[in-house]
Parts: sequence; C-alpha cells; structure tokens
Amino acid sequence: MQADIARVMVDIAHTNVDRTFDYRIPPRLLADVRAGMRVFVPFGVGNRPTEAFVVEVRSSTDVPADKLKRVASCIDAYPALWPEQIALARFMQARYGCLFVEALRLMMPSQLRGRQVEGRQCVTVALAVGAERAREESAAMQRRAPLQARVLELLADVAPVSLSDLEAIEKGGAAAARALEKKGLVRRESVRVARRPYAALRGDSRPRPALNPRQQEAVDTMCGALDGGGEFLLFGVTGSGKTEVYMHVIEQSRKRGRSALVLVPEIALTPQLTALFVARFGEDVALLHSRLSAGERMDEWERIVTGRAKVVIGARSAVFAPLQDIGVIVVDEEQENSYHSQIRPHYHAREIARERMRAHGAVLILSSATPALETYHRALAGGARLLTLGERVMSRPLPEVEVVDMREELRRGNRTVFSAALYRRMKETLARGEQAMLYVNRRGYSAQIVCLHCGKALKCRHCDVTLTFHQNPPRALCHYCHAEYPLKRTCAHCGETYFRYQGVGTQRVERQLRALFPDAFAIRMDLNTMQKKDAHFKAQQDFEKGRAQVLIGTQMIAKGLDFRNVALVGVVAADTALFLPDFRSAERTFQLITQVAGRAGRGDVPGRVVVQTYNPGHPAIVCAKEQDYQRFYAEEIAARRACLYPPFAAFARYLVTGKDRHAVKAGAASLYGALKALFAGEGAAEALMFRASPAPLERIRGVWRYEIVLKFHEEDLERCIGPLWDVMRGRRLKGCRADLEIRPANML
Ligand code: ADP
Ligand code: ZN
Repeated sequence: MQADIARVMVDIAHTNVDRTFDYRIPPRLLADVRAGMRVFVPFGVGNRPTEAFVVEVRSSTDVPADKLKRVASCIDAYPALWPEQIALARFMQARYGCLFVEALRLMMPSQLRGRQVEGRQCVTVALAVGAERAREESAAMQRRAPLQARVLELLADVAPVSLSDLEAIEKGGAAAARALEKKGLVRRESVRVARRPYAALRGDSRPRPALNPRQQEAVDTMCGALDGGGEFLLFGVTGSGKTEVYMHVIEQSRKRGRSALVLVPEIALTPQLTALFVARFGEDVALLHSRLSAGERMDEWERIVTGRAKVVIGARSAVFAPLQDIGVIVVDEEQENSYHSQIRPHYHAREIARERMRAHGAVLILSSATPALETYHRALAGGARLLTLGERVMSRPLPEVEVVDMREELRRGNRTVFSAALYRRMKETLARGEQAMLYVNRRGYSAQIVCLHCGKALKCRHCDVTLTFHQNPPRALCHYCHAEYPLKRTCAHCGETYFRYQGVGTQRVERQLRALFPDAFAIRMDLNTMQKKDAHFKAQQDFEKGRAQVLIGTQMIAKGLDFRNVALVGVVAADTALFLPDFRSAERTFQLITQVAGRAGRGDVPGRVVVQTYNPGHPAIVCAKEQDYQRFYAEEIAARRACLYPPFAAFARYLVTGKDRHAVKAGAASLYGALKALFAGEGAAEALMFRASPAPLERIRGVWRYEIVLKFHEEDLERCIGPLWDVMRGRRLKGCRADLEIRPANML
C-alpha cells in the first residue's frame, strides 16, 4: 500500500485542536512530504490554508475517503523538524503539560512560521488578484500554459511562497511566476539579506594548551563513553580547565562525524566561548540566542537544520537545535536558574538535554564549579558519573578571599560602598596596572529608597517591590514593570524630608569609583548598558584588551568569563539575595560568590577577592570564603533532608494571577477545592504539604499573585503530573488565570 497519508498537527495553539488530523498527499507532493515537513492544509469550515507540521507519513487512515482533504503544498524545501524532535515534543507535552504545538514551536525560529522570512535573502510571490479570479484564469490557461496554471492554482490555495520554494515545488515554477507577474496576476516582494552574527566570525588567537593529567583523564573517560552515551558531572573548581576538557570530547565526537550542542546560561558568555570554538571548529559553529537579529537567527538555524553547522552554542532554547546525530551535549554552569523557562512551557534545559542524550546515545556533560545540590546528589547516587578537577590549571592557586563585615564599616561611619579593605585592594591593584571586577548582586531588594525617619521604603504602585534609585537622570525605577517615579522630597508616610539610598546598584558603584579613583577607566555591564546588540562583545573586548581597568557588573559578569589580568574581585554586597523567601537562596548566594570569586587570578597574577557582607557568619558566606563546595553541600543537604526540601521531595506550584484581587483569591480557592478532591478518599495521591496563600511577591505590574504549593515524594509527584494538569484545565476561572509549574526553579 502506498504511504500517502500525512498525519499533521495544525499550527494553532488551542486545546481543541491539540490532536492530529489526516490528509491525503497529492501525487505531485509525494516525493517531498516527509515527517517533520511543514505544509499548508485546508483547515476548518472555510478550508483556509493553515500551516501544519507533518508528524507522520502513513498508508492508512480512519477518515473515509470522501472526507479526506488534501495537503495543499509544502512550505519549506526541507523538513523543519527531525523525527527525534517530534518525539521530544511528545515527551514535553506529558512532562510540562503543554500543547504539542507549543513544544514544536520552540524548535524553530518564530520567523519561519507565519512566513515572516525577515532577514533572509529571498523573494516571495503572491497573488495580485483575488483567489476566485486566479482560479478562473488558471482554468483558462490549462492548455496553453499548464505550468503557469498550476502555479496560479497553488498560489490561490496558500499564502506567499518564496521563489526558491516555488521552484522546489514545481520545476520551472519561478519562471512561470515571472510570466504571471507580467500578466499582472501575481506580484513579487523581496526581503533583505541575512548576516552571520558578528561575534561568530572572530576566532580566539590564544595558543592551545596541552591537557594536564587530570584533564586528560576526564577526557579519556568521557570519550570512552562516546559510543554508548552517558551522563557526567564535570565538577571542577573555577579555572580548572573544564572548557578545554569538553572541547576535546567534542573534537573526538566530531572526528566520528557526530554533532555537538553546548549550552551556556548567559548570553554574555557566548562571545568568549564562541571565539574559542570558532578558532577550533571554524565554520562548523553556529550560534543561537535571543540577542541575534531575526535574520541572523533564521540563517543560523537554517545552517543547522541543513547540516552545514554541526557545533551549536547557545542559551536555553538552543537545547532544541535541529542537530542530527548528536554525540556530545554540554550544559555549562549547569546550576543556573536561566535554564529553567519562566514562561510556558516551563521546561528545564537540563531535563531536555537528558532526554536528547537518551535519544541520540550522546554523552551529556554537566559542567560546574558549584553544581546544583540536586545534581551533585544525583551524581553521588549514581545517576551521573562524577569527574572531579580539584585544582586550577598550571597549579595556579585559588584566589584568597577576605570577608569584610559591613556592620563594622557603618559603625566606623563609612557609608560608601567601598569598605576600607576593598578601597585598599583597589588602590594596590590599579597601581600595579592590573584589573579589577566589581560585582553587584541585583537580585533581591537592592538600592532601595528609604525614609530615614519612619524607615519605610518607596514601593511601586503596581508591584509589591521596592523601587530602585537611579542616578542618571535622578529617578526611582521599578525593575519589574519599568514604571518611573520622580524623586519626592518628602516621605508619603510621615511627611519628613529625608531619604537615604540604601543598598547598592551598579550606577552607584560606578559613581563612587569615579570619585575615589578618578584616573581609572571603568566599564559597566548590566541590563541597562547592554541593550545594544553586540554590546557584550564590545565591552568584553575592551576589557580584555586593557582599555578599561575596572569592570562593574551584575550576574552577567559572575560566571564563566576568562580574563587573564584580573587580580581583584570585589563582591560589593554579598547578601542581597540571602534572605529571599525561597529555599534555594543560600545555595544561590554560595554559588554566585564562588563563581564571581573564580574570575580572579586566572592568569599569571594571583587573585584576591573581597566579599562585603552584613552576615559574615552565614554558612553560605563562610563556605564561599573557603571555596569549599563539599562543606557547603554537606551542610545544606542535611538541612534539605531535615526539612524535606528537594532533592528529598519535589514541589509543584500553581500561580493564580489577575488584576482583581478578589477574583484571584476566589480563583485560588476554587482550584484549591478541586485539588482537595484529588487528595481525598481511598488510594488517592498523597501530598506532603498542600497550601494556598498569597505568593511571596504578592503583586507584580499591577497583577495580584496567589499560589498553591504542593510538596510530594518524588515518585508521588511523577504519578500526579497528569491529574495536576487536569485539575487546572478542568476549572473555568473568572477574572484570573492559573499556571502550573512542576519543580519550579524559583519560588518568588
Ligand atoms: P573553567 O571553565 O574550569 O573555569 P577554563 O576552561 O576557562 O576553566 O580554563 C581556564 C583557563 O586556563 C583558560 O584560559 C584556558 O585556556 C586555560 N587552560 C585550560 N587548560 C589548560 C592547561 N592544561 N594548561 C594551561 N592552561 C590551560
Ligand atoms: Zn512596578
């Protein structure tokens, strides 16, 4: 029997059409339609041409022959999805409760869909007349110009088609379209040319180091697994040469013709890493992240799907890159929060990477100096092989860390952001012509504006967060909704006139630095200064080339960056995130300080770190000072075990949100009621904890937030995922909406 039935998913995100539909493949398309192809199909009452994904080509269908509609045309010249990705979407549907098409959409650039082929060099043709008229003309031309007639008919069924696609569908189609254009029946539009991302064109000129014995051992172990695949935790102190290790494994894998996927948490990390990879793998490297222009993203994606690029570097969503035969997947700084998607579907890139590892028989390398507690625990339990690099390369010492108690500084009357110790170290460093990095943790409530008299902080009118002071121009900004407020002279609560700017922001550090060290040139890297495309790349290059002595920045300078001349790292305020209402706040603080400290002393100059804190005795600070992961792990894992926190239990969390507080409260209550039924009665699922309350951030951007938090034994959660989603989908909430996250990465 001929396989001429296409089973498709239409590209419409709605629960009602979250299933497959069968279509007949007309003979002219038989050679082209394969699983993964995007096609136009007539859909719905009006038979409107609708984009769809072919998930399977088969020889039979339950649809009666007279009801079976026909595929109208192929959209692209090649399948946009590989069968493995279709299976991955199924996995995501079950695990993250998303629609099948929502998962599929993550796997291609949005420009590909909806035919907005922006940024790609291509010419599209579309009807210049109505579809009716086109069909009449087509019928009239049937004899004289059969090819033109077919093209016209095709265009009557579908939206604009690129000339190259048209040529692929109908040989000679492009010429026919031109003839039709002369007759005024079709029109042409051209779109601008695509570029390669700037940062991807530059290679790293540093000489390539020979591996030390520890690195070699790690490389050999992982290469030994290249045939069958397997999961590894590459746990190495900062500067131990982890990047070099996984590059070698990738090289071996490339020699066998297999491709590689490298994920990094921060876009800021991609320029340095890409430069290294380009030097070694040349044109094989493709870059995927949200900072690329639409055209670049499209172009890079296309190089991957067509097999021209086989080494992909990118941020979270690059985990879906359409690579074939993946030999190695690297998740660099695997503990990072940014691997968890804050928007639906709430997937975790590490979990997706694991799933793709299984499908491809790949080696998965989770790399970190400060692995997530869950990951280290998993490795100790045998879920991943643990490879440890305990020392820095070239026997470089780990930087020496000084902890400064800022309460003492205040007592001595020092109200600047520079403690006496940090000031002294800065002075020494700059005098020696070495470089310094100043890290400001912006997570949490920094740079608040507080009335000295009544102690109240200015809050945003729409969000439940304090405003942040900005110097230039002077104003108060909400970092959640970007609302701006003029600075008032008087406090709204008590009418007194004095405000103190408490906490620390990058701008304040920059200003004080300028006052204290007028000769030092500083670069600031934060979300505000890094708006422009390629801004990261430029800032890093300037710092690397020594055009600036100081780099001031937020999270984006904390991880992975490798500058040789940095002798001093100052952690300006270490504990801004220490007391956030989230069970991971100590872990995050420890990780960040250790990571940022690791930026110091990576070249010939030894490194020194000054950590400023109000909580010098906190285990997260003490262990970070010693850069002792094992000790932190031991303390924290004991606390997690005692309180039944992950990895000893798993959370699920519903977030109910809306503009009207009462509606949100009522919505949460109704959901809570429905859930109660799930946990009642014989043999029902069991939750360790189950409560409804306002979320820790009760209001953001004028939206009220209530949460229902459930805690389970891991196995119980696995069993409950389906029912938890069903409860949410089965509720009609009025005036609010609900979202469910399984194993949420943050609890704010
Ligand atoms: P990590 O990712 O563990 O912090 P990197 O891989 O960035 O460390 O390596 C730190 C620095 O050491 C890099 O500049 C790298 O080129 C260099 N390096 C790596 N391996 C060696 C080695 N075996 N000998 C000398 N230098 C090395
Ligand atoms: Zn706000």
